[in-house]
Amino acid sequence: MRITEIREVAGPLAGAISNAVVSFDQHKVSLVAIFTDVVRDGRPLVGVAFNSIGRHSQGGILRERMIPRILEADPDSLLSPETGLLDPARVLACALTDEKPGGHGDRAAAASAIELACWDLLAKYGDEPAYATIARAHGREPVSGGVPVYAAGGYYRDGDDLGLLRAEIGDFLDAGYSAVKIKIGGKTLAEDMLRIEAAIDVAGSGRHLAVDANGRFDRAQALAYAEAMASYGLRWYEEPVDPLDYALHRDLGEMYPGVLATGENLFSRQDVENMLRFGGLRPDRDILQMDAGLSYGLTEYVKMIALMEEHGFDRTAAMPHGGHLLNLHIVVGLGLGGCEAYPGVFQPFGGYSPDCAIGEGTVSPAEHPGFGLEAKDNLAAEISRLVA
Ligand code: MG
Repeated sequence: MRITEIREVAGPLAGAISNAVVSFDQHKVSLVAIFTDVVRDGRPLVGVAFNSIGRHSQGGILRERMIPRILEADPDSLLSPETGLLDPARVLACALTDEKPGGHGDRAAAASAIELACWDLLAKYGDEPAYATIARAHGREPVSGGVPVYAAGGYYRDGDDLGLLRAEIGDFLDAGYSAVKIKIGGKTLAEDMLRIEAAIDVAGSGRHLAVDANGRFDRAQALAYAEAMASYGLRWYEEPVDPLDYALHRDLGEMYPGVLATGENLFSRQDVENMLRFGGLRPDRDILQMDAGLSYGLTEYVKMIALMEEHGFDRTAAMPHGGHLLNLHIVVGLGLGGCEAYPGVFQPFGGYSPDCAIGEGTVSPAEHPGFGLEAKDNLAAEISRLVA
């Protein structure tokens, strides 16, 4: 197996939505295709993936640094000696040639698109869904079936915000979701409590509602919200403070009895190790949300899961940020705790293909080869243009 070409295109995210920190109006996502000399049905076998959602497209880093390094490498150096197929870890290492350690920012997202496209390629080569390839590569028996899923929404909108929020959560429940997540931190504490109470009223209980501050709060705000929300029994309180402020996470965990969730903005195993050592996260309740699509891909992500387990967490405490097909297959393949979903937003990258069954609070992958991105109508059109 030889790589013959790697293409990247930046695709916009549809929908004008905002959380407490960013507007997604200008956000794009890098869609990457790796072409090989393997021919199937008269066409080259192509692996496709993207750099999750939320960290902008990475065309500059990909085209100026990573893609040339891979195309100029000795082709044999990218292969597994056992299988003769592309080795995602070797491709990743090649993409990171001459990159210093530390400072895991945009390049982690850039590299992830390439690394995950390798997994799509390997699964397509084996003519099986990516969850099966991922499971077997990590010593696990491939098991299909549903995993827990929750609908992430509740973004701030102009107009009748509370009415729109109630209607949105009602729609999520009608669509088969039993748990939802809404944004907090974009209004005053009093206004946000009205949003939370409205959401609990529709969702049924605090157990069915998570809230996400997107790392916006300072110490005083984080503690004030924790105190105000303590009696709701929420599903979790997500990214209350800056994702790298380990000491403040620890202090919050000492006073907030409920579940804390964080990790979507930790892009390396070193960052995760620091959070586990110093952030005071509690293995009996807290949730970690690292996203392989933002953090160098699956090669790095499985090391993060191993670190979690070393620190006493069960792997079901891992619930990746990023509601899309890449993470669905990773969650199923690695036996993790569940998936996020973004019904109706972040298209065409967010969400699942129509044949991924959603119901009773779970989502199941379909059986298309690879991640099945081509089975998602609006994304299939983008992929067709890229590989044409
Ligand atoms: Mg979040």
